[in-house]
Amino acid sequence: MLRYGRNFDLLPTRKEGVEESRVKMKIMFLGAPGAGKGTQAENTAKRLGIPAISTGAIIRSAIQNGTEMGLAAREYTENGKLVPDEVVIGIIRERLDMEDCKAGFILDGFPRTVVQAEALDKMGIDMDAIISIEVSDEDIVARMSGRRVCPKCGATYHVDSKPSKDGTTCDVCGDALTIRKDDAPEVVRDRLRVYHEQTEPLKDYYNAKGKLRVVVGQEKVEDTTKLTDEAIDSFR
Ligand code: ADP
Repeated sequence: MLRYGRNFDLLPTRKEGVEESRVKMKIMFLGAPGAGKGTQAENTAKRLGIPAISTGAIIRSAIQNGTEMGLAAREYTENGKLVPDEVVIGIIRERLDMEDCKAGFILDGFPRTVVQAEALDKMGIDMDAIISIEVSDEDIVARMSGRRVCPKCGATYHVDSKPSKDGTTCDVCGDALTIRKDDAPEVVRDRLRVYHEQTEPLKDYYNAKGKLRVVVGQEKVEDTTKLTDEAIDSFR
């Protein structure tokens, strides 16, 4: 398994704002809650011009809008539990059917169980790159307390590493930023347990297919981004 973590400062820096042509890739981000998957998925989406699909964001928006699916998912999510496989598989199937996914896409937060990974295989979807972002549990619990999210558009921020421009409202839509209920420390510990039990085995699942790269999460977001870009580009 290839690990990207050392000598990251030797990697070439990408020029800001350089637009790459649409890259037809199917990329998956694995990693514990709070490891930084969402941030890297958004960044990769911009860089490669493909949509990032976050099951967590879709579920949160359904809860916010009070849809039937949202009502069913709420209790699981707020208690740090996984939403049942059939629900998330349904969400992903519908989303991947949309036109904007034809040229490639990024999965952030799906699959989270072996059953979900098998469902993706059964849909005939062959991923090009799986990036596992790794951060210690200890660092994750410390990080989560600073996470902020926009309840309207789902953009995520961090008070230290990725603050919004004014620190309290969303840069994209101006709504007041909130703290997710499931970012409370006791819920975070439950989510980490669920991650180690149910999601971490997916690393072996994809490593066996030769598609896995491990990125060691760095203190600075942009350093993790460099490593992530490099890991993804090794598949191009
Ligand atoms: P994080 O990566 O920080 O845990 P997400 O935004 O990805 O946060 O997910 C938030 C919550 O949404 C999860 O704790 C879980 O309840 C639910 N969820 C998201 N994706 C899945 C999935 N693939 N399977 C089951 N539940 C999911």
